Amino acid sequence: MFFDTHVHFDDFAADGSLAALLDRAEVSKVWKLLAVGGSPEANELSVRLALEFPGRIFGSVGYDRGLAGEPLDFAALREQAARPETVAIGETGLDYFYEPEKAKEQKALFFQCLEIAAEVQKPVIIHTRDADDDTLGMLADFSKGWKGDPSRLGVLHCFTRDQPFARELLDLGFHISFSGIVTFANADPLRAVAKFIPEDRLLIETDSPYLAPVPHRGKRCEPAFVADTAKRLAELRGGTVESLAMATTNNALNLFGLEEAP
Ligand SMILES: [Zn+2]
Repeated sequence: MFFDTHVHFDDFAADGSLAALLDRAEVSKVWKLLAVGGSPEANELSVRLALEFPGRIFGSVGYDRGLAGEPLDFAALREQAARPETVAIGETGLDYFYEPEKAKEQKALFFQCLEIAAEVQKPVIIHTRDADDDTLGMLADFSKGWKGDPSRLGVLHCFTRDQPFARELLDLGFHISFSGIVTFANADPLRAVAKFIPEDRLLIETDSPYLAPVPHRGKRCEPAFVADTAKRLAELRGGTVESLAMATTNNALNLFGLEEAP
C-alpha cells in the first residue's frame, strides 16, 4: 500500500471529483494521503477532510511563502496545528525563484511556522526553491531546538536539488520526498540523487494536482499516480515496488506519528 504524502485537494473538492479520485486511489493501492495546507482556505479544507476520512486522509496546516508579508491569523493556525487530525505543519518554506525580493518576509513567515511546529512537536512539510543556504540555516536552528522524537522533524517535499543538499538535510535528520518529477525524461541528475537516499528517509508524493508522472504527463495529477513514481524509484534503486511501498509507507506513518497499518 502507498502513502501519498503531498496532495493539494482544493481543486478536487471544488469541482466534486473527490469521491471518484479516492476510488481510483484505492484501486492503485494508495490508501493513505496527506492533505497539505498552506493558506487559510487550504488549512480549513485539510482539517475538514481529515475529519471526514479518518485513517485515510490526514491534515497538515501552515502558511506558505506566497503569503509572506500579508496579515495572517497565527492564533487560528496554532489552534488548527494543535488538533489531533493535524499530523504535520505546512507546507511552508522559501522560494527565491518566484519572489526573491520578498526573501526577508518569507524567512519571517517560515520562522513562525517552524516555531509552531516546535510547539506542537509535529513534523514540518518544507518547500524550497533557489534558497538552499537560507533553508539549511533555518532548518539547522530548528533541528537544534527540537525537543521531540529526532526521527520526526520533517520532510523536504518534491525534492529537485542536488546530492550535497540532500546530504545536509539527511544529516540534520530530515526525510526527502520525491514527486513525479523523478520519472521525467530529463531527470537523470535527480534520479542519481534518489538512488542514494537511505531507505528509512525516503517518502513519495504526487503534489497533486501538479506534476503528473510518466506515463500521465499532461493530465491533471492525482494520488493514484503515486504508484507510477514508486515503480520508477524501485527500478532505479534496484528493489521491488512492494518493498519500496512498504518502506515509504512505514516512514510516513512514523514521521506523522500514526499507528502502523494492521
Ligand atoms: Zn505542494
